Amino acid sequence: MIQITKANDLLAAVSKAKEQGLSIGLVPTMGALHEGHLSLIGRALQENDMVVVSLFVNPIQFNNKEDLEKYPRTLEADLELIKDEESRIKNQNTDRLIAFAPTVEEMYPEGQPTEVYHFGPVEEVMEGPRRPGHFSGVAVVVRRLFDLAQPTRAYFGEKDYQQIAIIRALLDQIKYPIELVPCPIVRADDGLALSSRNMRLSPEARAIAPTINATLEQAAEMADYEEVDDVKEWVLDTLSSFHEVNPQPNGLQFEPEYFEIVDARTLQPIAEWSEAGDLGAVGCIAVWLDGVRLIDIVKF
Ligand code: AMP
Repeated sequence: MIQITKANDLLAAVSKAKEQGLSIGLVPTMGALHEGHLSLIGRALQENDMVVVSLFVNPIQFNNKEDLEKYPRTLEADLELIKDEESRIKNQNTDRLIAFAPTVEEMYPEGQPTEVYHFGPVEEVMEGPRRPGHFSGVAVVVRRLFDLAQPTRAYFGEKDYQQIAIIRALLDQIKYPIELVPCPIVRADDGLALSSRNMRLSPEARAIAPTINATLEQAAEMADYEEVDDVKEWVLDTLSSFHEVNPQPNGLQFEPEYFEIVDARTLQPIAEWSEAGDLGAVGCIAVWLDGVRLIDIVKF
């Protein structure tokens, strides 16, 4: 693994690889790596000659200052995990994995970027209205990473399902010939989707957090015989009333922010299962637990 902090050094390494006709996989992350991120890195290593993993907490995608300040920064541990993943994948060649960890000034030398992206209906649902400016901030950083790493393929996790639709729309707009590779969610043994935010949960909250995934899995079974609206209502009711059925210490409870059942490509809500198009239907949820906002999905 090579660690690079300067944009020009990354450009130079990528140009050299391109001259040799090598394929490049890009895995954008904000660090605080866990098995979910490592699954993307491992897959990228298997499918490309060279892989760029970016570790950059992108300030312009945070609409909440406290969330940005609280975001875990664990660069040394991240680099060790990347090295472990590299040595786990066979036939490795030590300079085919680049960890790109720039400073904010290096990424945005002109100061706060002024470009704004609009994606229409796909950003007007779920996370979009609740996190104003978030997806535009994601698009700005991802486009810069595309320009620097010039990837053949870019890897994104389905945990951030709407983000994948946004990147698909970004690629349609900028017409870069990059293959978008959505990767399945990696979960803890008890079903909780891995997330750097999980470490902020108290032990009591962590113990009940798998209820989110368990409820979604049950919802997927109900989809065989229940209407869309009934499944939706059941998920929201089950989580909202969980603490009434299972009394919790310290007033701990699930507070769902939204649960939407949408077409997996357009992300528009569906009223009937038959309305879902080529990618099917997906349920997307955001739930507050113990002051932490957790997101997850289920495919129907
Ligand atoms: P983040 O560092 O949280 O911005 O995430 C970087 C990438 O890792 C994004 O594409 C995420 O969707 C993906 N990711 C995060 N958690 C998981 C997970 N549990 N399983 C699979 N991918 C994940």
